[in-house]
Amino acid sequence: DQPPRLHRNFVYINDGDGVASSPIRVMQWNILAQALGVGADNFVRCPLEALSWSRRKNLILEEILAYRPHILCLQEVDHYYDTFQPVLANMGYSSHFCPKPWSPCLDVEGNSGPDGCALFFDESRFELLDSASIRLSAMMIPTNQVAVVTTLRCQSTGKYVCVAATHLKARSGWEWLRSAQGSDLLWHLQNLVQELVGGNSNVQVPLLICGDFNAVPSEEVYRRFATSPLGLDSAYKKLSQDGASEPEYTTWKIRGTGECCSTLDYIWYTKGTLRVDAVLDMPDEEQIGPNRLPSYSYPSDHLSLVCDFSFREKE
Ligand code: NDP
Ligand code: CA
Repeated sequence: DQPPRLHRNFVYINDGDGVASSPIRVMQWNILAQALGVGADNFVRCPLEALSWSRRKNLILEEILAYRPHILCLQEVDHYYDTFQPVLANMGYSSHFCPKPWSPCLDVEGNSGPDGCALFFDESRFELLDSASIRLSAMMIPTNQVAVVTTLRCQSTGKYVCVAATHLKARSGWEWLRSAQGSDLLWHLQNLVQELVGGNSNVQVPLLICGDFNAVPSEEVYRRFATSPLGLDSAYKKLSQDGASEPEYTTWKIRGTGECCSTLDYIWYTKGTLRVDAVLDMPDEEQIGPNRLPSYSYPSDHLSLVCDFSFREKE
């Protein structure tokens, strides 16, 4: 018998711009590395059986299949080569993976390799132009955090979109490092965009940056993204009444050290070139349940973020 799944609905955003014909669906998700979930995380309210890879693997794939994103950005992937790459390739996805240079998974007995960021795209919707793995630097010094950046061409419109998946340094005390890593990623993206337009500043390249930023909205790295000259906005703000605030949480867990309920995950998009058509809502506290996440019903301590975007027409 199957545990109940979290039931979530799409909230349609009416920006008075007409109905989108064929939106691009984007999913951002820290899927919880298998080695970390059974290791250092110490999820004291989650039964070990719910953390078994066979169960979690099915729930993760089910979640991806339920929404069928055209673009999928995952963090804490420590089963890329044996699971996600081959399974999703069979479903028509191309992908790129970048492991963390010193993944904490490697410290766990029986690990299945380093965890890292993976970026998947639907081959029937997009053509690959370029992909790069970036080791994020802070003050010129390479860090243990990475990003995958991929430039795609939409098959139906011919338009370009540049997508990044990242996972910034975790834990409190490292706010300065997240800020530096975020700035480094913005710098890389700025260069990439400039290269793409070849000096023609009238052309704007649509950007999507998905990640577990490990930063609440009051942190400096969030402010850097929100005020960047790239013209970015965070898609999940659209869920709020005033369209100006982030959800209350994107992760909710209970470790030996206590409960943690916070917003750390974001989908950033260029507001001049992309429009948010729909946002998958967040499950409420009752649905998540008293033991929080992960659980028999949901395989990660982070919730997936799913949005539909369309290209804005040029004025
Ligand atoms: P981070 O601090 O960024 O955290 C790595 C992972 O730990 C994240 O996936 C994070 O998940 C998770 N995490 C966050 N908070 C907790 C918590 N309270 N309990 C358990 N897990 C948590 O780590 P780094 O990438 O900087 O790597 C640190 C590890 O890497 C070290 O433990 C070390 O073993 C190894 N390392 C080894 C080096 C070497 O020279 N051998 C060099 C550098 C690192 P989330 O994002 O979901 O919060
Ligand atoms: Ca984690």
